[in-house]
Order: sequence, then structure tokens, then C-alpha cells
Amino acid sequence: MKMHDCDLLVIGSGAGGMAAAVTAKHAGLDVLVVEKEAVYGGTTARSGGWLWIPANPLAAREGFSDSREAGRTYLQHEAGNHFDGKRVDAFLENGPAMVDFFEQNTAVKFVLGPQFSDYHPDAPGAMTGGRSICAEPYDGNELGEHIKTLRPPLKEITFLGMMIGSGKELLHFFNVTRSIVSAGYVAKLFVKYLRDLTLHGRAMRLTNGNALAGRLAKSAFDLGIPLWLEAPATELLRDGDRVVGAVVETKDGPVQVNARKGVVLATGGFPHDVERRRQLYPHAPTGQEHWSPTPPGNTGDGIRLALPLGAHTADEYPNAAAWVPVSRVPWKDGSFGTFPHFIDRAKPGVIAVTRAGTRFVNEGNCYHDFCQALVKATKGMEGEICAWLITDHPTLRRYGLGHVKPFPVPIVHQLANGYLKRGRTLEELARECDIDPAAFVGQVAEYNRHAAQGQDPQFHKGSTAYNRYLGDPTVQPNPCLAPIATGPFYAVQVVIGDLGSFAGLKTDEKARVLGENGQPVEGLYAAGNDMASIMGGNYPGGGITLGPAMTFGYIAARHAAGIAA
Ligand SMILES: Cc1cc2nc3c(=O)[nH]c(=O)nc-3n(C[C@H](O)[C@H](O)[C@H](O)COP(=O)(O)OP(=O)(O)OC[C@H]3O[C@@H](n4cnc5c(N)ncnc54)[C@H](O)[C@@H]3O)c2cc1C
Repeated sequence: MKMHDCDLLVIGSGAGGMAAAVTAKHAGLDVLVVEKEAVYGGTTARSGGWLWIPANPLAAREGFSDSREAGRTYLQHEAGNHFDGKRVDAFLENGPAMVDFFEQNTAVKFVLGPQFSDYHPDAPGAMTGGRSICAEPYDGNELGEHIKTLRPPLKEITFLGMMIGSGKELLHFFNVTRSIVSAGYVAKLFVKYLRDLTLHGRAMRLTNGNALAGRLAKSAFDLGIPLWLEAPATELLRDGDRVVGAVVETKDGPVQVNARKGVVLATGGFPHDVERRRQLYPHAPTGQEHWSPTPPGNTGDGIRLALPLGAHTADEYPNAAAWVPVSRVPWKDGSFGTFPHFIDRAKPGVIAVTRAGTRFVNEGNCYHDFCQALVKATKGMEGEICAWLITDHPTLRRYGLGHVKPFPVPIVHQLANGYLKRGRTLEELARECDIDPAAFVGQVAEYNRHAAQGQDPQFHKGSTAYNRYLGDPTVQPNPCLAPIATGPFYAVQVVIGDLGSFAGLKTDEKARVLGENGQPVEGLYAAGNDMASIMGGNYPGGGITLGPAMTFGYIAARHAAGIAA
């Protein structure tokens, strides 16, 4: 077998792996990154690119008064019985330092989400803005030839392949028919996109997770870190109790990679491991009743590699993954895409009902909470676990719904392929979707009775800062409520998916994988979703997977390099 020597082997090229690689190389280690797929960036490249870091330096510069203590209080409340004080403290201490390190030394730059509220803003220690930071948009030309192997963004959340940044940029898209400034802004971006498409065959203005993955990769390439593509790690190598490398399959055959300082597992968790899903996802009794927008290569390899060394996964978490409601988008070739519903549920004039015709949750709550409520509400019901997002004509054309875009983008195609259901009356829509008509008509009437006054006595939609952040501030008195009154009426079906798994490998506060008797396995680290989430199965804020992913990648690298972390 061929051999390759390095100090640190990083397995996986998402945020966890690349943060570890860049930090380690900067600290003087000889680093190799191996990636199973033909493209790098993993789920990170498909993501929103938000990192949740309490008391981060960007917020401090903007005058937010946040603190590590407040972050700890909030996380203790959120994780409950699964709170792991040591790892949380390591995160809170190193998170801001990690952000400083990347901003000062690499191509990774961030912008602050000043109004991006924590997801449970009324809990102790929560903030209503300033903890979430997003990767700054990036010019793909900076990556040179490497742009060709950057994983593209999730097709379903682009506009014809063009990436749309969150926050202000997204607002311009919503306002394109209402404001000259927004129309001009969008037109300029679209012309640039068409030019990029002609010259490069893809969007070159990277935003969100694609910008984060691009910026991390650029930082790695600038430091001369080799990245092997189509190179899955298949086995860990040991010398006594210490991990000293791995076998990596390549196009030219297997290579024995010897890693003097250790190995970082960062293969992105197990969202596509059907057997593990069967064991841990309550809504997926065969493991198949689940739709994940994460890339197909995330099949739990890191976990499988570590288990023979006595490692354990956090199967006791109340939620084994970060749930998100998704709709299945039919493509022309007969395949289905997966659209994650982050924003539309909170808009005024949108509600969600089960097949029973009734609402079950504050629709503006976070995706993770929405899905948990859906599983609860459909317990004992026949058929697949699903809900319908419901709206009327003016609302659909104003905000779109799921993969359906706002006016002036036509809707005929989505009506024809069955993605969007329509009824001239509420009864007709209910029959179209196999929803109980009488209960549904009664439910909409009950909702409408209070919506015009900005009230929702049933579920209090619009009652939290997070709800309102995703609503429409021009709608008053409640930016999340408007009657569903003007037909035709529309529905999109949602089922349960995930953004990544939570029940990863148990580690200590240095990101070392714990083996027999809870002792660290020397030379073996886990970062990103290969590491058990420090959120204990809960979802406290925007960026709670990428923030810890980069922070524990940074911690692992510094520990391997012998720097106190
Ligand atoms: C649409 C969407 C939006 C999201 N938005 C956000 C957000 O804004 N903020 C947030 O915090 N989270 C978000 N998430 C979740 C977040 O993207 C993931 O939790 C995060 O990217 C996981 O990072 P990672 O480094 O663990 O894994 P990944 O980024 O998935 O990278 C893992 C890599 O390892 C590779 N790999 C797998 N097996 C092997 C092997 N055997 N050998 C070598 N390589 C291997 C995979 O191919 C992959 O490229 C979002 C997810 C989605 C789908």
C-alpha cells in the first residue's frame, strides 16, 4: 500500500474539518484533508452560512451587551438534562477567539445579524439579536480553478441557480415589485449572474454557506493544504491505544496516511445512514420516511470508524437531528428536490394544518420545534406524517410559498406538477389535499376571526421576537398575522427532514473522542456533526451547528498542535 505522512489528517471538508485544517496549518502542522465526494464543502456549502456565537466580536463592536455568562444560562436552559458544562464552557470561551482568528488570519469574514433573534427569546439568557453571524458574500473568482469543485448550493433555495443572501438581500427580492430601489438591486445581481453563467457556467457571487465553504477552502489553499477529492477514509490506524492515521481510498488505490499528531473526524454526521435513522428518528420507523437536504455522502462514516475504538454516540438526546419541515419539489427528470421551509411559515396569512384540518403549532416558531409539534399532533393518525402550509392568493403572490416564488414569477408549472395545490374555495382545497373539509373551514374561520386584530389566541403566532423577525414588519399590528380570505386558496405539503444530525460521538472539551470508560482516545478528534451536539438535542438559535463546528475544529487543531485551548 502507498504511504503518505502528515501531522494531522482531517477527514471531511465541511466547516468542522476545514476550520481544523486551517487552524492546524497556521499553527505549523503539516495537514492533509481528504474528502469522499468529488466536490468539497459538504452540507456547509448548501447551508445558510450562519454561526451562532454568544458574545462574538462583531456584536461587541456594534455595542451589543452580551456575555459568556448569559450564553451559558441560555444553553443550560435549552439543553436541560443534557447540558454538558465543560464542553459548553469550551465553546463559549473559544467561539469568539475562533471568530477573531479567522477574521484576522484567513479569507473567512463575517457579517452580523443584528436582529436575528435567538429561537427562544423569552428564555433566560436569550438575546433578540447579535449572536448569529453569517459568512460575507464571496467572489468565486478568488478560488481560481478550485471553484469547479466547490459543492454548489442547494438548487431548491436558489433563484434559477442564483444565490440570494439572507437579511437585506432577501428583502430586496421580496420587494422587487414594490420598490424601485429593490428592483434595481435585484436587476443588477441578475445581470451579473447571467454574465457569470455565460462565462463560468455557474454563479460566481457566493453567498451564505457557499461563501463560507468557499472562504474556508480559499484559506486552506492559500496555506498550501492538500485536499484529496474522491478519497473516503475507510479505516483508522492504531498504535496501541493511539490513533496514528487512516486508510484512505483513492482513484489510484488505497493509501496509508500516517498522521503524527492525530486524526480529526469531520464527516458531517449520519443524515443519510438509513439504519441509524431507523433506530433514532421516531417519525421514520423504517428509516426511509425522512427527506434530508444534506449531501448524500454524509452516511455516518466518522461514527462507524470510531465505534470499534469503544466510542459512543449521544443516542439519549430527545432529538437525534436538527429537524426541518421540507417539501418535495418534482423536477422534470422525475427526481425530487428537497426544499427546507425556514421563513415562509412565519409570514402573515400562512398557517399549517394536519390532515385533520386543524392547526397544531405557532407556525412562526423555529423549524426544529415545528417538526416536533407535528410528530406529536399526528400521533395515531393514518398515513405519512405531514402537514399542509395554507395561504390565499394575495399572500401567495406577495411572499411565495416554499419553492413557489412571489409575483411576477409564474405559478402554472408548480400547479401542473402537483407541488402547489389550489382550490377556488377552502372546501375544494381541503378535498384536493385530503384534509377534513369541515374541520378545516372551521379552523380557518377561527384563525381569521382574530387575525385582522393581530391576535392568535390559539397559538400566539407573532408573539416572540423570533416570529416577528421572520414576519413582515409592514403588516401591523402583528407582522405574522393576516386573514386567509381572498381565494383561490393554496397549499404545499411538508414532511420531516433534517439539517444535520445531533447524536454524534461523545467527546471531551478538547474535542477528543471518548472511548472505553469515558477516557479520551489519544490522537482522535471529532468536529462538526460527527461530534455530539452541545445543544443536547435542542435548537437554540440560528447557527447552532456551524458555530460549534468551527469552534471545536479550532479547538481540536490547537490541541493537536500542543497549544492550550
Ligand atoms: C439548507 C441548509 C441550511 C443550513 N443552514 C445552517 C445555518 O445557517 N447555520 C447552521 O449552523 N447550520 C445550518 N445547517 C446545518 C449545517 O450546514 C451542518 O450542520 C454543517 O454544515 C455540518 O458541518 P460538518 O463539517 O459537520 O459536515 P459537512 O459540511 O456535511 O461536511 C462533511 C464532509 O465529509 C465528507 N465525508 C463523509 N464521509 C467521508 C469519509 N469517509 N471520508 C472523507 N470524507 C467524508 C462529506 O462528503 C462532506 O463533504 C444547514 C443545513 C442545510 C441543509
